[in-house]
Amino acid sequence: MADVVSDIMGFADNVSVSLPSLRVDAFTVGIAAQLQQARRSGLTFAPEAGTWRMRQVINKLIREEDLYAAVDAAFSNGWRRVKLYFLTGLPTETDEDTLGITELARNCVAIGQRHQRGASVTASVGGFVPKPFTPFQWFGQNTVAELERKISMLRSDASKSRGVQLRWHDPKATLIEGLMSRGDRRVGRVIEHVWRAGGTFQEWTEHFQLGRWLDALAEAGLQADWYVHRHRSEHELLPWDHLSAGLHKDFLWQDWQDALAEVGLPDCRWTPCYDCGACTGYGVEHVVASAMPPAGGSQGTGQDLDSGHIVPVSLLGRKPSPSGATAAAATAAGGAP
Ligand code: SF4
Repeated sequence: MADVVSDIMGFADNVSVSLPSLRVDAFTVGIAAQLQQARRSGLTFAPEAGTWRMRQVINKLIREEDLYAAVDAAFSNGWRRVKLYFLTGLPTETDEDTLGITELARNCVAIGQRHQRGASVTASVGGFVPKPFTPFQWFGQNTVAELERKISMLRSDASKSRGVQLRWHDPKATLIEGLMSRGDRRVGRVIEHVWRAGGTFQEWTEHFQLGRWLDALAEAGLQADWYVHRHRSEHELLPWDHLSAGLHKDFLWQDWQDALAEVGLPDCRWTPCYDCGACTGYGVEHVVASAMPPAGGSQGTGQDLDSGHIVPVSLLGRKPSPSGATAAAATAAGGAP
């Protein structure tokens, strides 16, 4: 990755480079030094949850050491501010997990202050919205009141922490995002009603009005609570079950059970295939350059951050079967993947 960054910087002498969220487990001192040659924009890392327990539940197996090493690399190369992105309202989340967000941010500020006077960290917190075709499609999203309570707790904690700034997403907007995420076809009438009533640019904070959506739901005889906050059972027919994203529903259910049991699933690049369907359902063979995880490994593999963070992965199409039909074709035709 450092080579790629070096190439980019070669073209970027007079350009300000803007970076999306960076991989915590692959951001090294070398990359920070390369980026430093360009006009720097902010750096954002996404640990997503404040405690290791919580990151196991969401299978984001980033270790605190990885985050601290990445933040140290940034501050030691001249950055004065780093942004961390988190979610609250995650399945099984306790107040201790929530407060882990400000705890991590505080620790990162302390690391920064070893290099920069006035180092600061912005913790940006969004409410968790379960998505279809994920293990969390059965999870009942946190209510607005619960998200507001958690944000209030974080605000209070952050206000006592010098160098930690807190930003948060409006829980009322998160409610409607949850409705959009897992609504069925009847929600189409709600969207149309909001639009006809003049509700445009609803994703813009300054234009969003919860009242419009509640009016439209009432008009359609629907309840947000049923769509957004309700836990689904294993055999409930879901509105998107007639579509295929490749992933097997029984795999997702098992993954959901593993999440509830706080069992993280190691990266399938270096384990036997779990047959989740993402490759197997489309006739794609998963081939990695190294049969072994890099020395150490990230994302649960304990990757050595000083070397070996480059692991090229290629996906090869499977040869057609003698009948000429691939597994993907069988799936498209409605056959078993
Ligand atoms: S190799 Fe592909 S099909 Fe197997 S578990 Fe990984 S993503 Fe899923």
